[in-house]
Amino acid sequence: MDFALSDEQKAIRDTARSFIRKEVMPLEQELLRRERAHQPGLTRDELRELQSRARKFGFWGLSTPQEYGGMDLPAVTQSLIWTEIGRTILPFRFGGEADNILYHANEQQRREYLLPTIEGDRISCFAITEPGAGSDAANIKLSARRDGDDWILNGEKTFITNGNDADFAIVVGVNDPERGVRGGGTTAFLVDRAMGWRSEFIQTMGEGGPASLVFEDVRVPGRNVLGEVGQGFELGMQWIGRGRYIIPSHGLGIAERALQMAIDHANTRETFGRPIATNQAIQWMIADSETELEAARWLVLRAAWTVDQGVDPRHSSSMAKLYGAGMINRVVDRVLQIHGGMGYTRELPIERWYRQVRLMRIYEGTDEMQRLIISRDLLRGYTTIGGHLG
Ligand SMILES: Cc1cc2nc3c(=O)[nH]c(=O)nc-3n(C[C@H](O)[C@H](O)[C@H](O)COP(=O)(O)OP(=O)(O)OC[C@H]3O[C@@H](n4cnc5c(N)ncnc54)[C@H](O)[C@@H]3O)c2cc1C
Repeated sequence: MDFALSDEQKAIRDTARSFIRKEVMPLEQELLRRERAHQPGLTRDELRELQSRARKFGFWGLSTPQEYGGMDLPAVTQSLIWTEIGRTILPFRFGGEADNILYHANEQQRREYLLPTIEGDRISCFAITEPGAGSDAANIKLSARRDGDDWILNGEKTFITNGNDADFAIVVGVNDPERGVRGGGTTAFLVDRAMGWRSEFIQTMGEGGPASLVFEDVRVPGRNVLGEVGQGFELGMQWIGRGRYIIPSHGLGIAERALQMAIDHANTRETFGRPIATNQAIQWMIADSETELEAARWLVLRAAWTVDQGVDPRHSSSMAKLYGAGMINRVVDRVLQIHGGMGYTRELPIERWYRQVRLMRIYEGTDEMQRLIISRDLLRGYTTIGGHLG
């Protein structure tokens, strides 16, 4: 058994780390200042400028196939890079990416949607959740009715990331209620905002926020079906699957940075004439955080490795998402505690992380849904305890 990263993995990770440190982190104080003034922390143009600088460093399209100009990196390397991104509080990501399911596009859709999304000229959002269907995504109701060559969409989607900025949405609707959602009765559509849907921003405890999307007799041409008619739910699950190792990979970077801040603070902050680090209460918070962080790291890397092996990653990804999301919430909570009153202020990024990471336990499958998947796999015998060791 070899837990070491390859030289190539280390080189890519170190280059990403250096880019984040030199080009992105210097903007953090300005981001905090703007957010304190209730302004957007990073504009779209600023993000694009950073992404084009990163492109010159060689970072463009981490998961994008090489034929589209991307790096097409293995999942383990992508996971390592997302951990580096997590170290900065900026809502930064490398450019050149498109939703994984957009690669089901046909030739015309490639030109109209996929390529401009990769280039950053168009913004997409993915919409499956509805007011009456979140965890129970199979309960979606947005209706897609055929009308000649077109489709007419009616219904509402909610909590859609980028929903207020996107100029097109990938929308999963029900075209055949008889067959049902799991029986091939759903379809994914590429729907331009110009086709008539509207969005409403939803205020959340995080910075930025998702939107609800309203469809009232929105006419979509038949050529805008993504993939096959009847494949919508399957595509939706593919989209969600990817986030299950990316989200905790990102969380690892936040936890590493936050924990280091706590260590530095504990060594320098003095109470009763000595550094707070000399108290066992503080030492235990640091020890528990490091132990949980390390446990999450290996769950996450194994989930990514499973993707690279071409083996069904659902079980390992659910464990990585469940434990990773919980770990980062516990670590940030302890880091805030170690900083005392300063941790609670908006001068430091800690209270921002505290609000931000709470989402990780909810979206792309709540904690409870991950537990449902993990236990179901075992109870039904789809997987055996430790079976992956052979
Ligand atoms: C900021 C944000 C961004 C999002 N981005 C997107 C996006 O881009 N696209 C998109 O389609 N969706 C998105 N979502 C939606 C997200 O995936 C859902 O909110 C999530 O799946 C939970 O669904 P829900 O909110 O309807 O909660 P519910 O499903 O109503 O669940 C409520 C609670 O009950 C628990 N629960 C439900 N069923 C069970 C059960 N059987 N057993 C035990 N416990 C159960 C849940 O775990 C949860 O704790 C986003 C959400 C947020 C908050």
